[in-house]
Amino acid sequence: MGFTLLHTDGSARAGLLQTGHGEVRTPVFMPVGTQGTVKAVEQRELEEIGAQIILGNTYHLYLRPGTALLEKMGGLHGFMAWRRPVLTDSGGYQVFSLADLRGITEEGVDFTSHLDGSRHRFTPERVVDIQRSLGSDVMMVLDECVAYPAEESYARASNELTLRWAGRCREAFERTRPLYGHPQLLFGIVQGGTFPDLRRRSAEALVAMGFDGYAIGGLSVGEPAPVMEEMTAVCTALLPAGKPRYLMGVGTPENILAAIERGVDMFDCVLPTRNGRNAVVFTRRGRLNLRNARHANDPAPLDAECGCYTCRTFSRAYLRHLFKAGEILALQLATIHNLTEYCRLTAAAREAILAGCFAAWKEEQLRRLRGGDDADSTNDDNDTSGRIA
Ligand SMILES: [Zn+2]
Repeated sequence: MGFTLLHTDGSARAGLLQTGHGEVRTPVFMPVGTQGTVKAVEQRELEEIGAQIILGNTYHLYLRPGTALLEKMGGLHGFMAWRRPVLTDSGGYQVFSLADLRGITEEGVDFTSHLDGSRHRFTPERVVDIQRSLGSDVMMVLDECVAYPAEESYARASNELTLRWAGRCREAFERTRPLYGHPQLLFGIVQGGTFPDLRRRSAEALVAMGFDGYAIGGLSVGEPAPVMEEMTAVCTALLPAGKPRYLMGVGTPENILAAIERGVDMFDCVLPTRNGRNAVVFTRRGRLNLRNARHANDPAPLDAECGCYTCRTFSRAYLRHLFKAGEILALQLATIHNLTEYCRLTAAAREAILAGCFAAWKEEQLRRLRGGDDADSTNDDNDTSGRIA
């Protein structure tokens, strides 16, 4: 079990992460399966898309369906009938963003459930136990994700607490054993906000503790892209070459390419799934908003070069009709395409790194991405009928 660095091209890396549910070829994009499902797609579709590993959210799965049922069903793999690797977050991010927070102490974090108001406490030890129950191939330590912008004094104190929590997670991980016969890995999370000194302090302290991999957390929370890129580079410069690096919650195709260039191996983000459910699709030539009237009579697929089921089968005109009519098939087909494009992007980056031409390949991708109609601009028909997600 563990990570093999196969090739580097500049700072970009191609590697292989071995888990109890098979190998993961990096760089890799991990679809987000918050509640034991990647929204709007079936597990068999995820396999066809080429999803090598998916994410599960500890906070959500702990509250519902709960660890007792998950243990009875053979963990998250058994429960959701997913044969490939799973990574779970520690739940910290959702506690801070979703729950009614009752307080952070040295011991852990107290919160009330966003579902029913019940009271709970996450400690470093507890989130290791919960992820043992989930049976994820990659587990994450409990951390505090500092909001942006933050005062340096707050970020500094939070960073030190997160480091003490990481040490306790590491010890709890050593004291406990997997429940389902397959090994589990534990990743540390580098925090420190947008302060390079705090990022360095965090990375060095975590590396000294020794984890199976290192995540970079607390980015993509509103800071400008150049700041995200600078912080990513500060972290990857200090992380050991022989361990995987995971940039949490990032991002757009452009963000992902910039991070791969700075030595990141693993990514997750809700953009392809969430945007897909809102009629925004990612193509090699940029984003398209299927609500735009210009797609109404278009017989072309979303992306003529894409081999996904949606692009092999359906026109832009049909997909636009499904969204306008509020049909659930729209959500499924757009999500299939968007996840295929994200998985293709990271797989193609890997090929370019192995071939030693990543920089030139990346420039070509960026040139093409600038060609879309940019979903962030105003819809040309301002039509929100049939909005479902
Ligand atoms: Zn497609």
